[in-house]
Amino acid sequence: MAFRLANIEGRAALVSGDAYYDLEDISNGNFSGDPMQALERLSELSALGAQLDNFEPSGQLADVELGPPIPNPKNCYAVGLNYRNHAEESNMDIPPVPMVFTKHTSCISGPTANIEMRSDYVDYEAELVAVIGKPGKDIARDDAWQHVAGLCVGQDISDRPMQFSAAPPQFNLGKSFDTFGPIGPVLTSLDSLDDYRSMEIQCDVSGELRQKDNVDDLIFDIPFIISYLSEIVTLNTGDVIFTGTPAGVGVIDGKYLRDGEILTTSIAGLGTLRNRCVRVADHSRAAIVPDAFSKLLAAAREKAGAQK
Ligand code: ZN
Repeated sequence: MAFRLANIEGRAALVSGDAYYDLEDISNGNFSGDPMQALERLSELSALGAQLDNFEPSGQLADVELGPPIPNPKNCYAVGLNYRNHAEESNMDIPPVPMVFTKHTSCISGPTANIEMRSDYVDYEAELVAVIGKPGKDIARDDAWQHVAGLCVGQDISDRPMQFSAAPPQFNLGKSFDTFGPIGPVLTSLDSLDDYRSMEIQCDVSGELRQKDNVDDLIFDIPFIISYLSEIVTLNTGDVIFTGTPAGVGVIDGKYLRDGEILTTSIAGLGTLRNRCVRVADHSRAAIVPDAFSKLLAAAREKAGAQK
């Protein structure tokens, strides 16, 4: 009763090994081609996922380009400072409640999409992403996993000058430039995973390891985040939640993404994103290093110096 849902050039497909099966075709039109609609019928999706051996594959993953498995979520939430080591490297206190911001849903992009950078201070953040299946309000922590359709890998790309160009910082704009939300490569159901609470997460830039941790280090875990958010907002089918990034982001060492670099982000069991970084024209504040940003940099440098 497990499934891996992919977006193959805009059409919903189930994945098994290296092959994919077009959802509308194998369901004889019972499902449409829309990946968002598939999320509304998870038990039927699982049933089909269990019978893939009965069908001829529609094609091989190697021959197609995957889009984001959740192309049009209604909302996209993200949690900041949700790993102890990242809060420490950022010189920030551990938040008493999840530090939530939104990424505009228009930033969502695919697992191999280019990242278009509009300043020299664009940063990576490898993250575990949860996708809501069954909608809900006031979801109890103990029930929260039942509202999760599945998990995928995400990159919470951040333009640091824009993020810190106002006080308090404007996380939503700094992290919502077009292409700043690659997710995928597929949506993996919880029952496809050995232990979805404990998975290695890793990020490297053109072969250099930058982040490595385990998602069991989250300060606020997925059930807590879902319970907390759903006191405030109704969570909808397809809503996307970025859960935070571990230590090792570029801002700490001044290692920002550069034109032509390949950003590789993996979570064991969920797969790998491979995104090329492309420097495009500056945004209007690209050359301005805001005060709040230089203070953050100075604090990080001081801390790094003190530890040596
Ligand atoms: Zn983040």
